[in-house]
Amino acid sequence: MTQLIEQLAAALGQDAVLSGAAALEARDAAQTHGLAVDLGAPLAVLRPRTTADVARILRLAHAAGRAVVPWGGCTGLVDGASADGALALSLERMNAIEQIDETNRVMRVQAGCVLQKACEGAEARGLLLPLDLGARGSATVGGVIATNAGGNRVLRWGMTRDMVLGLEAVLADGTVVNALNTLIKNNAGYDLKQLFIGSEGTLGVVTRAVLRLRPKPLSENVALLAVDAFEHLPRTLTRLERELGGSLSSFEVMWAEFYRLVTTAPALGRPILPHGHPFYVLVETRGVNASADAEHFENVLAGALEAGEVIDAVIAKSDSERKAMWSLRDDVPQVTREGPMCAFDVSLKIDDMPGYLDEVHRALKARWGSECRFVVWGHLGDGNLHVMVGVGDGSAQAHHEIEAQVYGALARRPGASISGEHGIGLQKRDYLSCSRTPEEIALMRTIKAALDPRNILNPGKVLAGSS
Ligand code: ZN
Repeated sequence: MTQLIEQLAAALGQDAVLSGAAALEARDAAQTHGLAVDLGAPLAVLRPRTTADVARILRLAHAAGRAVVPWGGCTGLVDGASADGALALSLERMNAIEQIDETNRVMRVQAGCVLQKACEGAEARGLLLPLDLGARGSATVGGVIATNAGGNRVLRWGMTRDMVLGLEAVLADGTVVNALNTLIKNNAGYDLKQLFIGSEGTLGVVTRAVLRLRPKPLSENVALLAVDAFEHLPRTLTRLERELGGSLSSFEVMWAEFYRLVTTAPALGRPILPHGHPFYVLVETRGVNASADAEHFENVLAGALEAGEVIDAVIAKSDSERKAMWSLRDDVPQVTREGPMCAFDVSLKIDDMPGYLDEVHRALKARWGSECRFVVWGHLGDGNLHVMVGVGDGSAQAHHEIEAQVYGALARRPGASISGEHGIGLQKRDYLSCSRTPEEIALMRTIKAALDPRNILNPGKVLAGSS
């Protein structure tokens, strides 16, 4: 091992190879965003400056048979960046926006560029990179590509996959694959970038990306709605999608318990609509005409109120009111303030949701009684819910029992997924078969073996038994 560290230091420069106590310090620094993320104890943290550096690292690690775990912003929630005993490959110094092409509406960025910086870079040129999620200030472009992150505006612009036109990735043996396509249409053979998007660093290390941009919308309207029955949620969603002419960009539902947690002390938020409703919905539109869009937005919401689908509504009248509404939805850390919670992000058909949640909640209460905490919110328009469950001290045994209940009920609903957006990492790999057929998993193993025959890239993640 010492020999490999010395080889890496010779190849990259001493400052790019942190080992021993310095590696643990770098690990701690990578966890400063306040999320409970387990990165393990890496043997070394490597900080390349260029794609050529990444290629050198992988060539050496490949020859030595050493595991390499790519690190972006380390904000993932499934232990996908856990680098215990491995070489952590941090892309933090490869963080530049290399080019923004306004005519073709694309930007080329390095993988370590923080998402928010990329979004602001696009915005400064009158363009929009429509990926938005709570970890925007720490998550990196490479990380959101490796995990195919979703977030709050998937309803309109899709997941990360839908924004990536091309990328550059380094394979396990150090081969650099330049797939920096900039075209919207390119059917010349296999779409190789898809191998790397959402594969959680198990098939290659993403080093650069070409992202598709949109014109920056000229208007923004946000409202908070109260809804009294689940069946009114999809009806309201359908009404808004139909009547807002494609400008609906978010439809975020907060169940009552989530709303209570983010609107009561010690949370900074206060109720914008009174407590007492079972559902609160944050809706957002991004349009083209500030005054006409605001009026139309109000009329459409008035229609939903008249139809009885929405019981109460508040429209934000200023930027600060819009921010106040979004800060409730974004204040997810409040959910864990009353004790440790197990986090799930399931996807299922909208009409399966109430029955599913009811079944899981009943089973949890039957097993754990009144000490069980159950908090739900999510991207209803995408069929994706965040469910958090807390019982007692959050022991590993309790965690396993909760998983069995949450995923057991999910497996009884055909077509459902154990992960809408967080991915599999270490945490969910034992449940992959709930959402994927044996043939799919066998094909995943074939691809993994073809691209990484020595199993050095993020081993043990996604597929069980590959560590
Ligand atoms: Zn989410």
